[in-house]
Amino acid sequence: MIPGPLEVSDGVRAAAAEVPRRHVAPDLVEAMGASLEAMRHVWRAGNEAQPFIVAGSGTLAMEMATWNLVAPGERVVVVNTGFFSDRAAEMLRRRGANVAQVSAEPGDAPGADAVAQALDDHPTAALFATHVDTSTGVRVDAEALCRVASERDMLTVFDGVCATGGERFEMEAWNADVYLTASQKAIGLPAGLALLVASARALKRRRALTSPPPMAIDWLEWLPVMTAYEERRPAYFATPATTLVWALRTGLAEILSADTDPATAMDARVAAHAEVAQTFRAAWRELELDLVPVSEALAANTLSAVRYPDGVGQELVGAIKERGVVVAPGLHPQLKERYFRVGHMGDVITRPTDINRCIAAVSDAVRAARSGL
Ligand code: PMP
Repeated sequence: MIPGPLEVSDGVRAAAAEVPRRHVAPDLVEAMGASLEAMRHVWRAGNEAQPFIVAGSGTLAMEMATWNLVAPGERVVVVNTGFFSDRAAEMLRRRGANVAQVSAEPGDAPGADAVAQALDDHPTAALFATHVDTSTGVRVDAEALCRVASERDMLTVFDGVCATGGERFEMEAWNADVYLTASQKAIGLPAGLALLVASARALKRRRALTSPPPMAIDWLEWLPVMTAYEERRPAYFATPATTLVWALRTGLAEILSADTDPATAMDARVAAHAEVAQTFRAAWRELELDLVPVSEALAANTLSAVRYPDGVGQELVGAIKERGVVVAPGLHPQLKERYFRVGHMGDVITRPTDINRCIAAVSDAVRAARSGL
């Protein structure tokens, strides 16, 4: 029950256990093509947006967005809600960008007004934000951030590693430019794929860059390959993680299987995550435990970041493990000794027994810790 990598569905596990395919095998080409098409639905992206499926982790997807969109010397605003926003800022600095951060106390998120102000301070190329920061459990209001950036004709990049497939994100309707994730979170796959969708505007920006990204993460190297696969033609630039792509088709199809209309299926998926998050929040309330996010509106539906009870510390994670459930310790540098994290995204939300078992283990460990004080 950590916030990724997570347990996967039986279907995904069976697909990942099949004989590895060649990257140009007709059935692999079909799996890749179908996955690219399904990504547009899961991302709620338009037909002109371009999905990319590349071997790597979420950090590689972040690197791809950074290098393909930002030229050295350009100003970028980072909405900082924790550990992974810090990572984005550092990456942008290494790209040579002039990084301005709009931050809040851990557990909080800057409001759209503060972000708008930062965008207006100096000419800015792009806005980067972490949709759900896994270190704090804080979810930003991505729709509002897209609005302030669109009004100013600035590109938006959202790190959806802990959100995509679990939280509402409407790439086309909100006019977002890049939404990126990794396979091991709410998408429900094993780790190993970097997944992102780029808008037509984002690709245009890449074409205008005079300082190209490293070859392995250059959209222009990958674009002909993705186009070919979607047209069901074999292609090669660098070998894809064929076994994971094979499983990805199954995972995305499972996500979209809730309804014949993909948009309705995604609404159902997001609602199911919200419902499970409510179940967990009710349990934390019952135990009188506080969340790291300072308000329910900021609390992600994909994980809970929960403060330890007074007088109790990281030993609680071990006590929960002794009761048969693995949760994660804190991660934010400023308060990691003061809270733990429980992932509730992907296939686990369809497993009430596991959810109840997790809540029972945490509850029992908390009660035992309190009674030992
Ligand atoms: N961003 C967020 C929000 C994350 O949660 C993570 C991983 N936990 C990353 C980026 C980095 O992804 P990866 O570990 O797959 O490189």
